[in-house]
Amino acid sequence: MANATAPGTDQNRLRDVIVVGAGFAGLYLLHRLRGAGFDTQVIEAGSDVGGTWYWNRYPGARCDVESLEYSYSFSEDLQQEWSWRERFATQPEILAYLQHVAERFDLRRGIRFNTRVTSAVFDEASAIWTVTTEAGDSLKARFCIMATGSISAPRLPDIPGIGDFRGEMHHTSRWPKEGVDFTGKRVAVIGTGSSGIQAIPCIAEAASQLTVFQRTPAFSVPARNAPLAADLVAQWKADYPAKRAAARNTRSGVLHEYSSTPAIGTPAPVRTAEFERRWVKGGTNFLYAYNDLGKNEEANAVAADFVRAKIAETVTDPRTARSLMPTDYPIGAKRICVDSNYFATYNRPNVSLVDLRETPITRITGNAIETASGRHEIDMMVLATGFDAMTGALLAIDIRTSGGTTLKDLWQGGPRTYLGLMTAGIPNLFLVTGPGSPSVLSNMVVSIEHDVAWITACLTELQARGAQTMQADPDAQDSWVAHVNELASGTLYPRASSWYVGANVPGKPRVFMPYIGGVDAYQRTCREIVDAGYRGFLIDAARSPAANARAVS
Ligand code: FAD
Ligand code: NAP
Repeated sequence: MANATAPGTDQNRLRDVIVVGAGFAGLYLLHRLRGAGFDTQVIEAGSDVGGTWYWNRYPGARCDVESLEYSYSFSEDLQQEWSWRERFATQPEILAYLQHVAERFDLRRGIRFNTRVTSAVFDEASAIWTVTTEAGDSLKARFCIMATGSISAPRLPDIPGIGDFRGEMHHTSRWPKEGVDFTGKRVAVIGTGSSGIQAIPCIAEAASQLTVFQRTPAFSVPARNAPLAADLVAQWKADYPAKRAAARNTRSGVLHEYSSTPAIGTPAPVRTAEFERRWVKGGTNFLYAYNDLGKNEEANAVAADFVRAKIAETVTDPRTARSLMPTDYPIGAKRICVDSNYFATYNRPNVSLVDLRETPITRITGNAIETASGRHEIDMMVLATGFDAMTGALLAIDIRTSGGTTLKDLWQGGPRTYLGLMTAGIPNLFLVTGPGSPSVLSNMVVSIEHDVAWITACLTELQARGAQTMQADPDAQDSWVAHVNELASGTLYPRASSWYVGANVPGKPRVFMPYIGGVDAYQRTCREIVDAGYRGFLIDAARSPAANARAVS
C-alpha cells in the first residue's frame, strides 16, 4: 500500500496509516506496520513514548502483572537482552524499557510528539481520513488506528471549590516529571483504587501528615514484590517462546495457577489453607484459587471474608479497619488491587482515614478539605480518582464520517464494536484493545500484541485484494455485543459500580465494556473469523455484492 503515497510535502502526503498513541500499542503498531511496508505516522500527545508509563509517575507506580510477563514477546532478541530487576517492575523501569524499544527499533522518527489529535473525519467518497490536531494541522491517511489507551483519560473529581485550592494538586496520571516533594507536608489523597493504594504507603513515608479520603474501600492483595533472582530470569529466558504461547492460551493472558475446583464443596479448612498459600505468594493469582469465585456469590463471599479478616488482623484501630473493609460488592468485581504495605500504613501515627460514606466532602477551600464532620487543613492534594476508561480517550476525539455518522452517536447507549476491533458505520477505523475485547481484563501486553498482529495482517490482506474499505457488518456486531453482554451477565462483575461498567463517570451508559470470555477464547474466535474470510466484516461494501464476493473469495 506504500504505493498509495502521493508525492508532496510531509503535511500533504497521503499516508497509509495514522496511529494515535505511542504506548505499548502504538509502538508495536509502528514497528509491525513499517515492517509490512505501510507508510505509517504515529501521533502522540505526550513528549515521549510510554503511554501509561509516561503519564503515571506517581510514587509507588508499578505493574501488577509480573514483569516477566508484562512485556513484549514479538522479538526474541528483545526479550533476551532486557532483564527485569523486580517481580513487579516500577514505572521508571517500564518507561526505560519502552524507551529502549523505541530506540532499538528506531521508532521515534515515525512519531510526532506533543501533538493531540482532536478530530478524525473519514471522507466516504475518497475513502481517506483527515486527522486534525489541536494545533490545527491536518494529516491524511487511508486507515486510522486508535491506540489511545483504555485507561488514559483521567477523571478529575467534581468537588465544589476544588478550583480554589491554593496548594499543589496532582492527578496520579498527570504527575510532574520532576517529581513531587512531600517532605514535611500535610497531604491529602482522594481515591483508594489501584493508584491510590500504590501511592499511599510511599507518600506516608515522606509526608508529615497524610489524610486519605476514601469513598469505597478496595479489596487488595499483597504484591510480595522482590528483586528477581538471576536464576529465575535465566529460566524464563531459556523458555520464553513456550511460556508466551502458554500465556496466550489462558483466560487472562497470564500464567496464573488456574484452579479447576469450585470453592463450594471444598471443606472450609482446605479453602482457608489455599487462600493463605496464595496470599503468601502474592499477586492477583489469589483470585484464581477456585473456579467459581467470579460467578457464585457464596464462593465469592468466602474469598472476600478471607481478605476482610486479613484487614482486621493488620489494622490496629478497629474503626479504621472496619472502614477499610469492602462489604457492598463482590471481590474481583472492581479491579482487585495489589499493594505493598497498604493496610499496615494506617497503623502509622501520621496517617488517618476519612470515611466519606460516613462524612462526605462538602467543599474544598484554599487550604482545606471540609467534610460533614470537620475541616482538614492540608498543603497538598493527590487525586487518585481514576479514569474515563475504555471509551474516554476515543470519545474525546471527534470521530466521524463525511456523511455525518459520529462515534459519539453510535455509542450513545454504550460502546458497540465487533471484536473490539471495528465499529459498524465507520469504515477503515481500527481500535486496539477496544471495548468488546478482553482488554482491561487481561495482561494488556498480550492483548495489544494480538490486536496489532491482527490489524496488520488485515491491512495486508486488504492490500492484496486491492480493497479500499472495510468495516464491521452491523448484524455481526449486534451478535457480538449480545454475546459480550450475555457472558458478563453470567458473572458477578456487573454487580459492582465499577469503571468496567462506566459507573465512575456521571451520565456514562452502564454497560459492562470488556469481553469476559477470556483471552484464549477471544483469540481463537478472531482466528476463526479470519479463516472464514473475515466473516462479519464488510469489505468494499459499496461495490456490488457480486464484486464484493469476488474480492472476498
Ligand atoms: P496507553 O499506554 O494508555 O497509551 C495511549 C497513548 O495515547 C497515551 O500516551 C496518550 O497520550 C495517547 N493519546 C490518547 N489520546 C490521544 C490523542 N487524542 N492525541 C494524541 N495522543 C493521544 N495493564 C496490565 O496488563 N498490567 C498492569 O500491571 C498494568 N498496570 C497499570 C498501571 C497503571 C498505573 C495504569 C494507569 C494502567 C495499568 N495497566 C496495566 C493498563 C495499561 O494502560 C496497559 O497495560 C498498557 O500500558 C496500555 O497501552 P496502550 O498503548 O494501549 O495505551
Ligand atoms: P479507580 O480504580 O477508578 O479508583 C479511583 C478512586 O477514586 C476510587 O476509590 C473512587 O471511589 C475514588 N473517587 C473518584 N472520584 C471521587 C470523588 N469525587 N470523591 C471521592 N473519591 C472519589 O482508579 P485508579 O486507582 O487510577 O485505577 C484505575 C485502573 O488503572 C485500575 O483499576 C487498574 O486497571 C489500572 N491501574 C493498575 C495499577 C497496578 O497496580 N498495576 C495501578 C494503577 C492503576 P469510588 O470507587 O467510590 O468511585
